[in-house]
Amino acid sequence: MLQHFQALPKGHKILVSGISALLALALLLPSEDAEATRDHDLEKLKIGERYPLVVNVESRPLVESDTAPQYAWHTETVKSGDSLAKLFDRAGLSARTLHDMLANLGAKAKPLTELRPGEKLDFAKDENGTLLAIRYAMSRTQILNVVKQDGNYQLQSDTIPVEHREQFATGTITSNFWNAGVRAGLSPAVIDGIANIFGYDIDFALELRHGDSFAVLYQQDYVDGDFVSDGDILAVSFTNQGITYNAVRHSDGNYYTPNGQSLRKAFLRSPVSYKYISSSFNPRRLHPVTGRVRPHNGIDYAAAVGTPVYASGDGRVVKSGYSSLNGNYIFIKHGEQFVTKYLHLSKRLVAAGMKVRQGQTIGKVGATGRVTGPHLHYEFLVNGVHRNPRTVPLPEAAPVPKAELADFRTQAQDMMARLSNQKRIMLAMK
Ligand SMILES: [Zn+2]
Repeated sequence: MLQHFQALPKGHKILVSGISALLALALLLPSEDAEATRDHDLEKLKIGERYPLVVNVESRPLVESDTAPQYAWHTETVKSGDSLAKLFDRAGLSARTLHDMLANLGAKAKPLTELRPGEKLDFAKDENGTLLAIRYAMSRTQILNVVKQDGNYQLQSDTIPVEHREQFATGTITSNFWNAGVRAGLSPAVIDGIANIFGYDIDFALELRHGDSFAVLYQQDYVDGDFVSDGDILAVSFTNQGITYNAVRHSDGNYYTPNGQSLRKAFLRSPVSYKYISSSFNPRRLHPVTGRVRPHNGIDYAAAVGTPVYASGDGRVVKSGYSSLNGNYIFIKHGEQFVTKYLHLSKRLVAAGMKVRQGQTIGKVGATGRVTGPHLHYEFLVNGVHRNPRTVPLPEAAPVPKAELADFRTQAQDMMARLSNQKRIMLAMK
């Protein structure tokens, strides 16, 4: 989730924001099917705007009855500084009506009192101007309806089911993975997702070669036929310098090889996004003045004060304290064998006894204790012995649990077959 990002060249971020808008627009466009004839002109949609859902009232009766009334809706858009009272006023409804409605709904009215500018409320009144119904699209999948029934206002929510559609993309790297991903029609989220999945095996900044390739099966979420967002990556394969890495998503949300081995390591190689290594691991380091051996038992990662420091693996904080030598420091125990240490922090965000997850921010880089400048001093101990954090072999994260392995492998086989099948079709079409 973080390792490879720090390795990406400068300027990467700028590229992201520049093309993500284009991508988002491209993704909003309808896919190959006949859904193109939607109520609104999709090409006119603006990035970052919220759009009202087109709700088919006939097929979703607001009132559970065969003679559901046909409302004539009138829409009010929430402006900055608006209150529900102002909206009611603009809709030609009295303060009395608002009062009655709020009294009827009680605490359930909360979402209506937290409207944001740009959101829309639909009002329906009868010929006498009495409020009959309010419709509010809280999100792409949640509609809130207020309906007058037997003289009282009642709240009905309507959940619109999300439909997952499977997408396939493949590409070949000519410059970098980012460009190849964009060319293949992938969104930033999916490109980042793939880089994350293989981030322990492939250095996306330094190790990619011309001709490397990838293929991915992923989900897209649709509501009412409209694209909403990218969903999970289901299966992905990446060929780097002739070696193909495969990953399949398990129901636990983690990615494994089709055999069920984890793609994660139990530890991050470095627990901070650093500028450079200011001092290497050196058990035989000599003191410049005394000439005596004064080992450097860790790695010094130079980084700006305030840079987040991550727990390099799952574990439990055994110490979180301050000393004149270490400054603010945190020690984490990972199972029986491993301990990691983080020194000279400006801030500690975890206390002794707390459980932490790999990648969780536990503190901030600082220059506390005996230091010459801001850096993270990081130590990695195996069975009480200091090891070089840069080169120590890192254990794999846990594989798919035995009880789930047979099912997972069957599923993974099916996924990989679909992936290569799609790849074949794509190649045949070229
Ligand atoms: Zn150090």
